[in-house]
Amino acid sequence: MDRRKFVGAAGLAGAAGLLAACGNQPGSQASPEATCNGESNGETFEWKMVTSWPPNFPGLGTGANRLAESITKASNGRLKIKVYGGNELVPPFEVFDAVQQGTAEMGHSGAYYWKGKAPEAQFFSGVPFGMTAQELHGWLYVGGGMELWQEVYAPHGLVPFLASNSGAQMGGWFNIEINSIEDLKGLKMRIPGLGGEVLKRAGGTPTNIPGAELFTALQTGTIDATEWVGPYNDLAFGLFRAAKYYYYPGWHEPGTGLECIINQESWNSLPGDLQAIVRLCCQATVMDSLSDFTYNNGKALNTLLREHAVELRQFPQEVLTHLKSISEELMREMAAESELMGRIYASFQAYQEIVRPWTAISDRALLNLRPDV
Ligand code: CA
Repeated sequence: MDRRKFVGAAGLAGAAGLLAACGNQPGSQASPEATCNGESNGETFEWKMVTSWPPNFPGLGTGANRLAESITKASNGRLKIKVYGGNELVPPFEVFDAVQQGTAEMGHSGAYYWKGKAPEAQFFSGVPFGMTAQELHGWLYVGGGMELWQEVYAPHGLVPFLASNSGAQMGGWFNIEINSIEDLKGLKMRIPGLGGEVLKRAGGTPTNIPGAELFTALQTGTIDATEWVGPYNDLAFGLFRAAKYYYYPGWHEPGTGLECIINQESWNSLPGDLQAIVRLCCQATVMDSLSDFTYNNGKALNTLLREHAVELRQFPQEVLTHLKSISEELMREMAAESELMGRIYASFQAYQEIVRPWTAISDRALLNLRPDV
């Protein structure tokens, strides 16, 4: 078979594969391209992707770049994506609106940033004392979570995809010691989403400000503490130069998923094969990003401890128990806020009841057994 015939045959096999992939199959990731749009007529698309991250920021910005490059390459340039960092086209926290309004066709951000617009979205980035990255992916890709996320964003004219996962985050950088639950009272801390709400109920004052402003806010005392991501990203902002203590664990973000959102009309304009490429590139980038965070968090933690003599602290058990109890209460209250929120919470809980006993006797048991290195 010469090359041309081979390519032709591969193309047919590819098309057959795509046709077979049309429609949701049990156990497969929810595919918003459920209705195939027919064969491509060779039309090309040039899209903008706005992000909530500083341009090329390690892990976050570079993850968005990687997604854009993958889609551009996998589509052989039929769908070209140009990435804009926060403030290059729109401010970091206007990504949702910009994509909804079509200023950009695509966005890369965190679903918990939109709690004022779509409070249900917070469940899909992760909740305090909730799921690990691996567990979250199981819920979204197999356990029904993705269909619910699509339902939450549909009235906003947006199609969501999981596009990254930071893994477990750190508790944050503090300029005051946390020795008891009393120390949470009056604590001015940058902490978004549900973690922020839990801190508020514990007597603290949560704020959310874009990552690029954290260093100054911490250094000038506008805030007493901030969480950002983990050692990899925190080192990049030099946060260790503005705070005394680095606390763990990241109780509020045990395995945060980040999102790619797409304007519904833009999505509908793509032929089925490009839609499949976008979905699969998002899925591949989740693995790339989680791998990137895992390796580089380890390296950066070493740098922070060895080169910068950062003082690592563990939150006292009393504080964690208190925050966990508030989190559980908050989840139950949220579940009663709307019919949709109730269904999301029920799905989230049912999934955890299935998966957590397995995690307990597999990963957790094994982690407890591992020798220190
Ligand atoms: Ca965070």
